[in-house]
Amino acid sequence: MYDKVCSSCGTRLSSFYNTGMLGCPRCYENFRREILVALKDIQGKPFHVGKKPIITSTEKELLDEYRRLLKEKENAGIEKRFTDMAKISKLLEELANELRNRGVL
Ligand SMILES: [Zn+2]
Repeated sequence: MYDKVCSSCGTRLSSFYNTGMLGCPRCYENFRREILVALKDIQGKPFHVGKKPIITSTEKELLDEYRRLLKEKENAGIEKRFTDMAKISKLLEELANELRNRGVL
């Protein structure tokens, strides 16, 4: 398999695929295209650089949950279930904060 190596820190593209980790900010520049392909189903700014995972499975779950709640809030609005809407809004707010803290929103 074709492998790229970051000229700055030596991190391999194949190791990014295995671990989701980048070694340094240059990795992002070097592997940008591949990273975008790998993350094409994730919106927002899921990019961490340094010794941190780009996005963990927990964060992916939180994002999925966030999207699910957005839909649910929309439905509640259409069906004029305003109490539900308020509850969902509160949950969305908490999730959004959590996601922002993690740098994925
Ligand atoms: Zn690097």
